[in-house]
Amino acid sequence: MSASAPTILVVGGVAGGASAAARARRMNEHARIIIFERDSYVSFANCGLPYYLGGEITDRDALLIAKPSLFKRRFDIEVRTRHEVTAIDRAARTVTVRDLDADATYQMPWDKLILAPGADPLEPPIPGVDAAGVFTLRNLEDTDRIAEAMPGAQRAVVVGGGYVGLETAEQFRRRGLDVSLVEMQPQVLPMLDREMAEPIHRQLEYNGIRLELGNGITGIESTAGQVTAVDLADGTRLPADLVLLGIGVRPNVALAEAAGIELGASRGVATDEFMRTNDPDIYAVGDAAEYTFGSTGTKTRVPLAGPANRTGRLAGEHAATGSSRPAPAAWGTSIVRVFGTTVGSTGLSLKAAREAGFEATAVHVIANDHAGYYPGAQAMALKLVFEEGSGKVLGVQACGGNGVDKRLDVAATLTHFGGTVHDLAQLDLAYAPPFGSAKDVLHMAAFAAENHLDGLAPVLQPDVDLCPYQVVDVRSAAEVEALPLAECDKIINIPLDDLRDRLDELDPARPTIVACRSGLRSYVGTRLLKQHGFAEVYNLSGATAMREFALNRRLPASRATTPTGVPVPDAIMID
Ligand code: FAD
Repeated sequence: MSASAPTILVVGGVAGGASAAARARRMNEHARIIIFERDSYVSFANCGLPYYLGGEITDRDALLIAKPSLFKRRFDIEVRTRHEVTAIDRAARTVTVRDLDADATYQMPWDKLILAPGADPLEPPIPGVDAAGVFTLRNLEDTDRIAEAMPGAQRAVVVGGGYVGLETAEQFRRRGLDVSLVEMQPQVLPMLDREMAEPIHRQLEYNGIRLELGNGITGIESTAGQVTAVDLADGTRLPADLVLLGIGVRPNVALAEAAGIELGASRGVATDEFMRTNDPDIYAVGDAAEYTFGSTGTKTRVPLAGPANRTGRLAGEHAATGSSRPAPAAWGTSIVRVFGTTVGSTGLSLKAAREAGFEATAVHVIANDHAGYYPGAQAMALKLVFEEGSGKVLGVQACGGNGVDKRLDVAATLTHFGGTVHDLAQLDLAYAPPFGSAKDVLHMAAFAAENHLDGLAPVLQPDVDLCPYQVVDVRSAAEVEALPLAECDKIINIPLDDLRDRLDELDPARPTIVACRSGLRSYVGTRLLKQHGFAEVYNLSGATAMREFALNRRLPASRATTPTGVPVPDAIMID
């Protein structure tokens, strides 16, 4: 071989590996490129598997994005399925490969080695986990096994409230199964702050899914080897014919580690800006690798398809040519649909931002995805997390119906460029009534953040302890009666439109919090009090609606939320 015609071996042939191999070929027509894949398929759509199980995707073949024959014909890339790479000899520049069907082992030399072995689903070390009917979902083989088990099943237990668990629970329900979802944490989707996950809890329950939050599984019962029930920490026994374990993934790093490739603090393969490991001829991408994370700049794993595909492409180019653009930071931008509700985030939650050491705060906005007067508007709750002082945007979470994806993608674009809330406030976004509002929900959030930073209307978080404050609820008396401000028995109720005339009922010297239903009227009230000499006034961000969610009060849907589980926006949006 010559430097211009290297042998490039790729371990793992799905998201990262397939992208790497294809880009390597497009950049170097003379390289020898081989993909080793221990399973039977390469380049399949992992992300589509739940939808195939539920019948939204009906054509199994559609999940196979590029078959070995296409790799060979179009790219002259050799794909060896059912071939597992079992060892790397860095000194000899070879890998050991096991042909799983022939039960034979051989060595293959390489000049560049790209590791894209992904991650395996975690299985809890509990009794009964090996029973028939207990599954994990990672690949097509898993999917086929689950699909085969579904017709004979009536009751399914999904363990884990991450996106794989949620998507699969939704799809099981779609197939008519009785579904329970068990999550050890008090909320699903741990990348979200508590209140932003609550609409999903509601949506699951409206759709007949039994939700067991804050309850881990302790064992799996079976009869004659077939699962019959799942036992939970609080003693509950959930009958089950089918169990899906979706409790997270473990990066496949054993191969790399055994070869002296360094791991990072998150136990992913440590990489540089070109996805090279500590051996400059060995790259690592995808779920097994570490990325630089957005605003923190720390190295961590981000097990998502986007970063895997994009870094695969870069590593393929670098391996084939010796250079490429550096890999950008990952922000963990993700989105999931749960029945009629869409939720997602980019960057850090408030909880994560503070844990990372940022002096961070957040504002909440509840608004329509497009002008409320145009038919079909759907409510959205959006939380903007930013740094005090600089206003740098650290993360955005959004939950609602239509248009959540658009807001997250705008936010991801802004954060990629290191944008601040001031940048966000000035973005010139597309607008016509069917698509958005002249002041988009993102603008509204940015305005609220600027008002906080400018001291015009400082916010406190919806779960704040209200007791030390003079609390003024500016909703109507009827609203207050229907939905009192949670955990506050000393509120002073003065409807916003009466506030100016009833200031003498308040003590301007006391630290004051103004609340309403969504945070909008309370913002107006905050401004009013401030301009009447009140020394210290705060707006309760997200107000009663978000406080209910943040404090985990499980009110019936009809009380205050739209069909997506998101609070009803105020009719008049003024900033
Ligand atoms: P993978 O795509 O998992 O590929 C790794 C491959 O390497 C595997 O096929 C494995 O068999 C093979 N392999 C491992 N070790 C060896 C070895 N020693 N020799 C040979 N082959 C080996 N992400 C999103 O962003 N959005 C989504 O909606 C989404 N939905 C998902 C739904 C499901 C059900 C699943 C399972 C994942 C989903 N993901 C989603 C995550 C996304 O699929 C992964 O982040 C992405 O596939 C990771 O790419 P990868 O190349 O690192 O690993």
